[in-house]
Amino acid sequence: MNALRSPAADEARVAHAWDVLGTVLDPEVPALSVCDLGIVREVLPQAEGLEIVLTPTYSGCPATEVIERSVLDALDAAGLGPARVTLRRAPAWTTDWISAEGKRKLREYGIAPPGAAALPGGAVPIRLVRRQAAAPVACPHCGSAHTERLSAFGSTACKSLYRCLDCREPFEHFKPL
Ligand SMILES: [Zn+2]
Repeated sequence: MNALRSPAADEARVAHAWDVLGTVLDPEVPALSVCDLGIVREVLPQAEGLEIVLTPTYSGCPATEVIERSVLDALDAAGLGPARVTLRRAPAWTTDWISAEGKRKLREYGIAPPGAAALPGGAVPIRLVRRQAAAPVACPHCGSAHTERLSAFGSTACKSLYRCLDCREPFEHFKPL
């Protein structure tokens, strides 16, 4: 269909698409791009245009359609259209796919990243290990592990609501999956 297709041109388009996707923000966690979240699984150069393979985050999240549209709009705006989105639901997305950069951005945004056991200051106090078993959720504001869960659900089903017992700030925790 496209007379200009060549392996080198395809490679350049795919690389450009990844750059563009790195600027498409998640509607629920605007601190993170869809690449930080790890939901963009593949960018495939097809004869009819780019195919973007996405794995949605939580099945209950209504954000998937918004993300699809943002992805396609961004690619169009960058002159990379036509493109289409394919959803791949298996294997299921896990919070492990959030990049290290994504976890850092979450903390800066004031959301405790999933699996946030490591504290900036070092070791986890013994009493907290005993009280909360495995991994305490560290406060993204002050780094304290002295936190309590207020509600299983925060602003979205993907997050739960916590409060820091040291700095008293409430915060959301991106639930690990
Ligand atoms: Zn705190």
